[in-house]
Amino acid sequence: MQTNFLVIGSGISGLNFALQAAKKGKVTIVTKKKLIDSNTNFAQGGIAAVLDQTDNFEKHVEDTLKAGAFHNNKKAVEFMVKNSAAAIYRLIDLGVEFQKENGKLSLTKEGGHSHRRIAFVGDYTGKEIERILVKRVKEHPNITILEDAFALKLLTQKSFFGERTARARNKANNLALPVMSRSELYNKTCIGAQIIRGNKIENILADQTILSTGGVGQLFLQTTNPSIATGDGTAMASQIGCKIKDIEFIQFHPTALNKNTFPKFLISETVRGEGAKLVNEKGENFMKNTHPLKDLAPRDIVAREIYQQQKTGQVFLDIRHKSREYLKKRFPQIYEKLKKLKIDMAKDLIPVTPAAHYECGGIEVDLNGQTNVKNLFAFGEVTCTGVHGANRLASNSLLEALVFSNQVAKNLTPNQKIKQTEFDAPKILRKNSKETLLAEKLKQEIKNIMWEYAGIIRNLKRIKKEAIPKMEHIAKELKKMNGTNQEIAETSNMAITSILILKAAYKRKKSIGCHFVE
Ligand SMILES: Cc1cc2nc3c(=O)[nH]c(=O)nc-3n(C[C@H](O)[C@H](O)[C@H](O)COP(=O)(O)OP(=O)(O)OC[C@H]3O[C@@H](n4cnc5c(N)ncnc54)[C@H](O)[C@@H]3O)c2cc1C
Repeated sequence: MQTNFLVIGSGISGLNFALQAAKKGKVTIVTKKKLIDSNTNFAQGGIAAVLDQTDNFEKHVEDTLKAGAFHNNKKAVEFMVKNSAAAIYRLIDLGVEFQKENGKLSLTKEGGHSHRRIAFVGDYTGKEIERILVKRVKEHPNITILEDAFALKLLTQKSFFGERTARARNKANNLALPVMSRSELYNKTCIGAQIIRGNKIENILADQTILSTGGVGQLFLQTTNPSIATGDGTAMASQIGCKIKDIEFIQFHPTALNKNTFPKFLISETVRGEGAKLVNEKGENFMKNTHPLKDLAPRDIVAREIYQQQKTGQVFLDIRHKSREYLKKRFPQIYEKLKKLKIDMAKDLIPVTPAAHYECGGIEVDLNGQTNVKNLFAFGEVTCTGVHGANRLASNSLLEALVFSNQVAKNLTPNQKIKQTEFDAPKILRKNSKETLLAEKLKQEIKNIMWEYAGIIRNLKRIKKEAIPKMEHIAKELKKMNGTNQEIAETSNMAITSILILKAAYKRKKSIGCHFVE
C-alpha cells in the first residue's frame, strides 16, 4: 500500500493534521485500537490560550517557563502561545462547542496559571474534541482509516541528506537544533511503516510519515493514561536513530482518584481551579504554607507534597462548599463517576493520589515537526519541542498538539519519490503462545520497576545499579523471541522506552521540575 502522508495515531494531533493534509494529498491513518482510543479522549480540563483582553502572551509564556523550571525552549513556547487563539478558533470552526457565557468563551483556571485562560467543554473537553475530529476525518474522501492496525516499526532507506539541504535546514532552524554533523548527512530516510493487522504484516509506503502516537503513562503502575499509552512512537523512533530529549521528565498528576480503577480516574485540576482544597486526614489544608500559589501550585510541587503527606495518612480534595447543582453542571463526568463509586462530591471528601500522567520530553523535533530522520515528522505528546521544559503547565499539551500539527500540515507537500521495496517480515505468534504469556508477565514487571525507581522521588544509585540492569534483562528476553505480535511488540516498546527514561534520569544528577532526586 502506498500513500502521501502516513499518520500513526488518532489523537488530537494526528486527526487535526490529517484533516489539513488531506487537502494536499492522500492520507492514511493507522491506529492500534479504534479511532477514539487515545489520551485525548480522556482529557478533562481544557486548552490554555490567550483569549481574554486582560490576559497577554507574555504572561502565558512566563507561566509556561516558570512551570517548566526555565528548562524550556523559549522560542518554541513563544511560537505556541502566539498561535494559541488561532488553534482554538480552528476547533470552533470544525464544530467544537466550547462553553460560553453571554456569547463569550468561558475561561477556567488551573495550577501554575496567573490568569483564567482555559477554554473547556464541561469536564470532558478531550472527548468532545475527539468526537468532532473523528466525525470530520470519517467524512473526508482523501483519508483512509485503518483501525486495529498496530505500527510495528518504521521503514527506512539509506540516503544522502545533501549538504546544501542540510545547511539550509540548519540555517532556517530557529529552534537551534544542533547543526547536522557529517555522519548525519548520510542519514536514513523514513519511507513508511510496517503494520500488524489481524494476523498479517503489511508495509505502508509513504512520502512522509508522521508519528502522533502519544505518551508513556502505561510504563508506570499507577497512571491516568489509557492502555494505548505504551511509548511505541518513542521506541520505534529511537530504533532508527531519532534523537530523544528530556524524556526523564515524567509528570505525575497530583489528583488521580485513590480507588482501584484502571486507568486511574483523574480528578481534573479545574476542580481546584474552581475552589477545591487539598486536605490531610487532620483536615489541614497543607498546601497553604507550601507555595505562594497554594493548591494551584505547579503539578510537580503538589504531587511531591501529597506524596510526603501520604506517609502519615490519606489525602483528599474538598469541594463541599459548592452546591450540588453547581457541581453537577460544571463537572458532570466527575460527579457521575464518583456517584457510581459511592462518593458524593457535594458531601464527601474525595481521596486522591499522584499518578503518572504526561511525558514532557520525547522525540526531538524542530518547530516544523522535523525529526533528525528525513521524511519523518512528529507532534503531540510523543515529541520534545522544548515547550514544556522540565514540567508541563496544565492544559498546554492539547495546545501544543494542535499548534505543531497545524504547522507541520502547513509545510508538508507530497513528493511521490518512494520506490517499491522488499522488507523482511517477522513471524506472527498466536495470542496464547508461551511468548505472549511471558510478555504479559514482563509488562507487569516493567510497570512495577518504573513505579519504584522512576517515580515521584528518584534515587540515582538505585536506578543505575538495580533498575537499568533489570530493564535491560527484560528487553533481552523480549528480543530473543522468535516472532512477534501486538502484545510482545508493545511490551518490547515499553522496555526500550523505559531504558531511555532510566538512563536519562540517571544522567541528570540534580533535581529540576518533575525529575526529583532523593
Ligand atoms: C486523564 C487525562 C486528562 C488530561 N487532561 C488534559 C487537559 O485537560 N488539557 C491538556 O492540555 N491535556 C490533557 N491531558 C493530556 C493530553 O490529553 C494529551 O497529551 C494529548 O491528548 C496527546 O495527544 P496526542 O495526539 O499526542 O496523542 P494521543 O491522544 O494519546 O493519541 C495517540 C494515538 O496513537 C495511537 N498509537 C499509539 N501507538 C501506536 C502504534 N504502535 N500503532 C498505531 N497506533 C498507535 C493510539 O492508539 C492513539 O490513537 C490529559 C491526559 C489524560 C490521560
